[in-house]
Amino acid sequence: MTSTPPAPAEQPTNERSAVRAIVAAMRPRQWTKNVLVFAAPLAAGELLNADVFLPSVGAFVAFCLISSATYLVNDVRDVESDRAHPVKCSRPIAAGEVSTTKALIVAAVLAVLALALAFTISPALGGVLVAYAVFTGAYSLFLKNEPVIELVLLAMGFLLRAIAGGVASGLPISEWFLIVAGFGSLFMAAGKRYGELDRLVRDGGSSEQSGVVRASLRGYTLGYLRFVWGVAAAVTITAYCESPLMATDNDRLLTGWGRTAPSRATVRSPSTYDEVAEAIQEAGPRGVLARGLGRSYGDAAQSGGATVFDMTGLHRFELDIDSGTVTADAGASIDEILRAIVPAGFFVPVTAGTRFVTVGGAIAADIHGKNHHVEGSFGSHVVSMLVVDGTGHELVLSPTDSTTKDMFWATVGGMGLTGVIVEATFRLLAIETSSMSVDTVRCHDLDDVMARMIEGDDGVCSPGVITLAVSS
Ligand SMILES: Cc1cc2nc3c(=O)[nH]c(=O)nc-3n(C[C@H](O)[C@H](O)[C@H](O)COP(=O)(O)OP(=O)(O)OC[C@H]3O[C@@H](n4cnc5c(N)ncnc54)[C@H](O)[C@@H]3O)c2cc1C
Repeated sequence: MTSTPPAPAEQPTNERSAVRAIVAAMRPRQWTKNVLVFAAPLAAGELLNADVFLPSVGAFVAFCLISSATYLVNDVRDVESDRAHPVKCSRPIAAGEVSTTKALIVAAVLAVLALALAFTISPALGGVLVAYAVFTGAYSLFLKNEPVIELVLLAMGFLLRAIAGGVASGLPISEWFLIVAGFGSLFMAAGKRYGELDRLVRDGGSSEQSGVVRASLRGYTLGYLRFVWGVAAAVTITAYCESPLMATDNDRLLTGWGRTAPSRATVRSPSTYDEVAEAIQEAGPRGVLARGLGRSYGDAAQSGGATVFDMTGLHRFELDIDSGTVTADAGASIDEILRAIVPAGFFVPVTAGTRFVTVGGAIAADIHGKNHHVEGSFGSHVVSMLVVDGTGHELVLSPTDSTTKDMFWATVGGMGLTGVIVEATFRLLAIETSSMSVDTVRCHDLDDVMARMIEGDDGVCSPGVITLAVSS
């Protein structure tokens, strides 16, 4: 009778514990932090899109690998202090279950795998992982004991995770997302340190002991951490509420050219005149306001809580060479009109300091140019316009028609308050060339300057920059 030799019980147990020790040193529980990579796809409402989900999962795996690599490096660096620590001494490297050499080899392998995966998914994600490795490396090796700096680095680690999913799948990362995620990361970092210090204080620990738990805690007070935590929470919540993340499909934050005082409005983009009329009739008590290219300096093209028409979808125009006029939708920009009419020998009669204004905006603000004293403002060149009034009716307005001229002039410079301009016909200047001929003239004194400027007021020639040199 043969007997089966007993299984070598000790050997597999040792192998298992070695593998387990390495896995434990990689701190898989901390991988839960990496679910932050799904934040950007979630915020964009694209998480379930396969083209976004799969790269995001790849980014999650890459972050698990790279973060484990940095934990291993960190524990190798701290091996002596961890051995003297009542709790950290049981960490696999401090306990001698994993040698420092083995830990560094595993860290290198994990880092290479993480970067290879990240760069395969997208070079930008690779860049995010490199940044994470640099920040975390700087934290572990040099800066972890420096209060405030280590807090910022901790927050950076969260922020880089938060943008990783969006970067991996090519989703645009808005400035709002960065503000919310940035201050949200600071909130998490300050809250983490606050919790550590609070626990220590409640356990009766001294500031000396706080250094034993985490050296950087010596540099904080509970009041300071509570303050940072509170401010970060306030900014995160405020930015989130103001951001488009809270907006419905048509809600947008609008500003003027100065980009101050944003206000949220329901933005509609009509593509026909009938849509303009229908939307006016459906508008609530706050009514509607037309908006062109938003180049007005203040808040003229904003109407918080109301409906704002983005008129730029209506931008057809037609040049009538015989009459030297152009008939344009209100959303057509002076820029696009100039591109078409200059080669045909025409120019708009009045240009503001920017070409990126719409015909509707030019009329509503009755813009002036540098030739204002000769040609007047834009409205002086408008032959007629089609306006949809507050009841949704179309009105043809003309400066020469006695029944509509009052409404016409109220609309010119009326800043959109008399109705929505949907179309206008205006006169053009005939030009011989789009090139300029520049003469430099030396003037004797200020009277001479003024005289030459008046001489140049023929509408063709315009005096430009004048440099005055005063000699004693
Ligand atoms: C760099 C720069 C230089 C400038 N230089 C000059 C200058 O030299 N001279 C000058 O006069 N201005 C100047 N401006 C101001 C600019 O020309 C005006 O603010 C112009 O109204 C902007 O046109 P917009 O299409 O961007 O209109 P928006 O800023 O979108 O709207 C301006 C106003 O027009 C109303 N509006 C727009 N479209 C319609 C429409 N279809 N129907 C009814 N109302 C409408 C809006 O309700 C709002 O009240 C300058 C602006 C910038 C940014």
